[in-house]
Amino acid sequence: MTHPILQVLDTSYGDITVELEAAKAHGVDVVDRDDTSVQADGVLVQYAQITGETLDAHPTWAVVGRYGVGYDTIDVAAATERGVAVVNVPDYCEEEVATHAAALVLASVRRIREADTLTRAGGWPNWHDLLPVPALSEATLSLIGVGRIGRKTINLLRAFFGRVVAYDPYAQPIDGVEMVDLDTAVKVGDVISLHCPLTPDTHHIINADRLAMMKPHAHLVNVSRGGLVDSVALAAALRANALGGAAVDVLECEPPSPDDPLLSAPRLTVTNHLAWYSARSEPRLRSLLASRCAGMLVGVDAPSVVNRAGLAARLTTAEKAR
Ligand code: NAD
Repeated sequence: MTHPILQVLDTSYGDITVELEAAKAHGVDVVDRDDTSVQADGVLVQYAQITGETLDAHPTWAVVGRYGVGYDTIDVAAATERGVAVVNVPDYCEEEVATHAAALVLASVRRIREADTLTRAGGWPNWHDLLPVPALSEATLSLIGVGRIGRKTINLLRAFFGRVVAYDPYAQPIDGVEMVDLDTAVKVGDVISLHCPLTPDTHHIINADRLAMMKPHAHLVNVSRGGLVDSVALAAALRANALGGAAVDVLECEPPSPDDPLLSAPRLTVTNHLAWYSARSEPRLRSLLASRCAGMLVGVDAPSVVNRAGLAARLTTAEKAR
């Protein structure tokens, strides 16, 4: 008897042991990308862009699993048109990403990276070089996007800040958080933290105009997607001393080229897209994705099919046409 096959197209995890174990429970095999002897029924991808052309070149794929929460690397409309399910894992790292956002907020405001550099360079008495540092109990935390991770970030940071405001056109009210429009969120924040997905609507949601609206001492934190921020404009604002600082876990181009303008901008802390990671979250992500995609191949519905509604509509249209 032949088993359905999932192929791991690209990951940075080094092996496929976790995926094999998780898929086995559904009687599904997993092979890695080097195995060219098989025609896979579905794929698991971390970084690869999956376009309509990719899907046309692999007509046997019934499911594309994306390692992570964001799925902006996958042309979901193209997948839906072809009847291919797109599966993500929105529920594996809320705690980790919110913790990383909170760490970046505090590090940027307290100027930890610059103080470290100053101290190592013999500047111990020169603390005034690092001013101003606001008292957070008098400051406003402003979030753009308050879904799973945004809400968790608020829970972690609420105790530090005097006021919390948020912009999210789709969210329900949150206790103790003032919901405001986008420009107000940008104008009133002493710290602005981004927690919305990257979509055509949110691409460069922080552009030169919005950077100019920010308070001159404000800090911008981005753990969501690099494309939310115009990085050339952010680098220019930091160089012009028009912002207090910025801290980002994500960049427009990852990994960055050595001449990425943000890498040489002052008062910028950057981490290498690791907000999602903990010793718990990595195996959890791999196991949940493989298990959900394997299940889809044998008729077990997954809780996180990104294009569920589109696939259902496509089926209805096909039935009507019969
Ligand atoms: P979520 O879907 O639970 O929340 C996203 C929120 O953004 C929703 O409330 C939605 O209403 C809101 N939103 C949508 N469009 C908006 C807009 N135009 N303006 C303002 N808000 C808008 O997602 P989540 O689990 O909270 O994750 C958020 C993002 O974090 C993901 O899309 C992903 O890109 C990023 N992420 C990054 C890492 C990392 O390692 N750096 C890890 C996981 C997730």
